[in-house]
Amino acid sequence: MEAGLYIHIPFCKSKCAYCDFASFAGAEDKMVPYARALQQEIRQKAAQYPDALISTLFIGGGTPSLFPAALMDQVLQSVHEHFTFVPGAECTCECNPGTVTEEFLAVLKKHGINRLSFGAQASQEPLLQLLGRIHRWQDVEQSVNLAKQLGFHNINLDLMLGLPGQTEAHVKETLEKALSLSPTHLSCYGLIVEEGTRMHSQVEKGLWQLPDEDTERRQYDLCRHTLQRHGFMQYEISNFALPHFHCRHNMDCWQRKEYIGVGCAACGFMGRKRWQNPPSLPAYLAGEAPQEEFISPRDAMFETMMLGLRTMDGVSEEAFFSMHGHSLESVYGEKLQKPIREGLVKRENGRVFLTEAGLSLQNRILVELL
Ligand code: SF4
Repeated sequence: MEAGLYIHIPFCKSKCAYCDFASFAGAEDKMVPYARALQQEIRQKAAQYPDALISTLFIGGGTPSLFPAALMDQVLQSVHEHFTFVPGAECTCECNPGTVTEEFLAVLKKHGINRLSFGAQASQEPLLQLLGRIHRWQDVEQSVNLAKQLGFHNINLDLMLGLPGQTEAHVKETLEKALSLSPTHLSCYGLIVEEGTRMHSQVEKGLWQLPDEDTERRQYDLCRHTLQRHGFMQYEISNFALPHFHCRHNMDCWQRKEYIGVGCAACGFMGRKRWQNPPSLPAYLAGEAPQEEFISPRDAMFETMMLGLRTMDGVSEEAFFSMHGHSLESVYGEKLQKPIREGLVKRENGRVFLTEAGLSLQNRILVELL
């Protein structure tokens, strides 16, 4: 059966102020043992799921482009030795501007990576500094241009909205600069200040003030309208792509398709089982077992709704039935009536999806479905 493969590379040059991902700065001495542990887990997971046909590969982090080219070469070698890929599989690697080398990109190319995703965030230096990013916009331009010279043409740029001090003029300028690099895909995420991050304590102390909801909404609308004018289709709350360039790996996650996660903190989901590898680097390197859970049929159905309603296509009633053996009508028909009456949800042509008004009220709608 087809499945995604996710590989986590948890190393970063320094920790960004807002980051609560499993990423570690100053741990370069652990890179060699990490590559070894990854190869071992790749062998083990391939043996555990011998029927898995990999339709998408996503190398995320952390900063995968900080991983030495020779180690990435070994890891990808193992991936191809032990897993079978479907022809034309989408293979993405996340890269951070300022860490990308020709040698690294050549290794990715050699192993069939055909999509790159750059953490660009914003084009204004003060905003990048506030986020604790290590790059300047110039580095974004250099990295993207280098990638193009080496034959990568499917390129995503991640941008951020809702930053302290960020104005609509900043967002407009960032979009213009991003579009001038001809990406095929843009992800525009609102900043979430998670507890335990440096930015959280700065906001708590009143050093930074977050924009209000209206400002953030205007920034988001500016993105949507600008990108639509440039031929990008919004296919998920935060994601925009030129025709045929949506991220298949993410779409599969939102359609609740199975994937195998490898690496520190990586999650996986196959059949009814979901697992998460140890989020601590020493624990992962010591071979500590993942945490596993079995998903109940009720939770599985709710997940299908929760993930599917993030996308513009919504949830297919046919796919829901073939996945769960119950019709969407029998499980959620009654609960959907209120949001449909309120104009937040539509049910048309065998699909259930959020309307424009419903997109920003997704959480409320999900609570009602739950
Ligand atoms: S580059 Fe990404 S993963 Fe690394 S610290 Fe910054 S936000 Fe976190």
